[in-house]
Amino acid sequence: MSRILKAYETRYRWLLQQVRARHLQRGVDWLVARARRMSADRKVPLSQSLTELCERLASRPAFRKGAAHAGPDRFYCDAGLGGLARWLRGAGYEALWEAGIDDDELLRRARQTQATILTTDSMLMERRLLRDRIIPGYWLPPTLSIPEQLALVFREFHLTARVPRCMSCGGELRPGDKEALREKIPPRTYRWLDEYFVCVSCGKLFWHGTHWQRIQKQLRSLTAAGTAPAVNGGAGPSGRAT
Ligand SMILES: [Zn+2]
Repeated sequence: MSRILKAYETRYRWLLQQVRARHLQRGVDWLVARARRMSADRKVPLSQSLTELCERLASRPAFRKGAAHAGPDRFYCDAGLGGLARWLRGAGYEALWEAGIDDDELLRRARQTQATILTTDSMLMERRLLRDRIIPGYWLPPTLSIPEQLALVFREFHLTARVPRCMSCGGELRPGDKEALREKIPPRTYRWLDEYFVCVSCGKLFWHGTHWQRIQKQLRSLTAAGTAPAVNGGAGPSGRAT
């Protein structure tokens, strides 16, 4: 619990900085005390009231203003967030990820690529580069499912779904010629589908399979006021690749 509490303290501090609060530590202490009261009054775990209070604050216009300015295009997901990286790419964002990358290397690369770090590791958030916001970072509670992680990142950074990118590497997807790709398409899919997309970076083949439909549905639900996500000519990743 102490690690989670620490992570929330960091986040509260960041929110208070957004509104140029003067007495940061006093503000953070006050918010934590309030979360403790909420937890005791309603008999819910402290982690739940910390999250709730944080989201309540973050949704206020004054706090949103600061975050909106910093809306990142590129994310660097920590080693445990490979699934989130894939979904972010499907939502049209650059999401870098590497299996087994260590903290120092992650920080170095995020700085180099000007990416925002996404992590479930509260210890990582304590690193000076992140604490001082030399590198922007965002901590996600480790208990969330991938769609919940995506929803939280969308809310935090006010993202909207964009033209999908290749879920494997983040490359641009271009429509591919069905006949030219025939050998790579499973016969059963070839019979009923005409639209195919090829990643310009890794060459993987995508089509609108059931996995793609599931992701699109999820993205639609995340997009404000039910606006459909921007899909260029219907391009989108499917779960299957050659
Ligand atoms: Zn690719």
